[in-house]
Amino acid sequence: MKIAILAGDGIGPEIMAQATKVLGALAKDGLKIEMEQAAFGGAGFDACGDPLPQATLKLAKQADAVMCGAVGGPKYDALPRAQRPEQGILRIRKDLALFANLRPAVMYPELVGASSLKPEVVSGLDIMIIRELTGDIYFGEPRGRRDNARGEREGYDMMLYSEPEIRRIAEIGFKTAMKRGNKLCSVDKENVLETSRFWREIVIDVAKAYPQVALSHMYVDNAAMQLVRNPKQFDVIVTGNMFGDILSDEASMLTGSIGMLPSASLDANSKGLYEPIHGSAPDIAGKGIANPLATILSSAMMLRYTFNLDEWAYRIEAAVKNVLAQGLRTADIHESGTRKLSTSEMGDAVVAAL
Ligand code: NAD
Repeated sequence: MKIAILAGDGIGPEIMAQATKVLGALAKDGLKIEMEQAAFGGAGFDACGDPLPQATLKLAKQADAVMCGAVGGPKYDALPRAQRPEQGILRIRKDLALFANLRPAVMYPELVGASSLKPEVVSGLDIMIIRELTGDIYFGEPRGRRDNARGEREGYDMMLYSEPEIRRIAEIGFKTAMKRGNKLCSVDKENVLETSRFWREIVIDVAKAYPQVALSHMYVDNAAMQLVRNPKQFDVIVTGNMFGDILSDEASMLTGSIGMLPSASLDANSKGLYEPIHGSAPDIAGKGIANPLATILSSAMMLRYTFNLDEWAYRIEAAVKNVLAQGLRTADIHESGTRKLSTSEMGDAVVAAL
């Protein structure tokens, strides 16, 4: 298994070093992986004037999976749009045809106090939001501005989903549900939108191949409410690009700690790009205090979703739980009665817990 390691900028290299440390420890235990680093984001711009250098894209295409740290920083903010580090992320997602974004929101018992919701609402929470990433109103044509018949200026976008686009994301939804609690909730706006009516029809058709999975449907406005009212009713949610953009941010914040949340973006063959949901945190870069757990948990997602190695993934996740249960914390999740660790000490603690 070949993994491209794109550490990126800011805290990216610090947190990625911990994830590769964990994967390296598993390699000593028999996990057959090879890791190769390449410049990406601002680091790519510094090295070759391009946030996604040709050599980096080539490595990412050859690899079986890609791990990213984070990109961006004030140093690059004044660059023209095409050279901004964030463009590197958008381009690599497009070039690798990564259409399915998976974001788990897991509440660790030790961190319940970090949520803005009541402990009884969020304790034990473990949900997965699957967002379609390459279609919908964000990409539909036509789009633009025009003058209408009354001579007024107006802006417009096209919400559009093709049948193959809905089928492939629904398949990911059902397959993911089968790796978890066998419950899938498809979120749409079927009462108003033609696109959603079509979406629901196709999802119901795809469901015929997955009789083990209990499928339900929910309107997006209700889903937004249910996520804060009773989030534990969900197992896996599958939805389109725009609804998923909003719901996945809402769901991730149920847990309250940005440094803990991994993500995956998959193509049709389950090749994936794995990254923490947070950015490059320039305010704490270089201080050795960033939380590496989101990146370490992203590597667990990689083992599960690209390589189908559930047991190895579970070992990493169990090690993270163990470290938290020991009262070990980085600064962002530290509270009285727990022990504060640096970024690399946290990586070492996870390795020890493996
Ligand atoms: P951010 O996620 O980098 O930081 C938000 C806050 O959370 C900061 O206070 C930061 O210190 C803290 N934080 C984030 N990750 C942490 C961690 N692992 N441990 C401890 N604290 C952590 O968001 P931002 O400040 O809005 O953006 C900073 C830069 O990151 C910008 O250039 C932005 O464009 C970029 N960005 C990149 C990605 C990506 O690479 N996918 C995603 C979001 C933002």
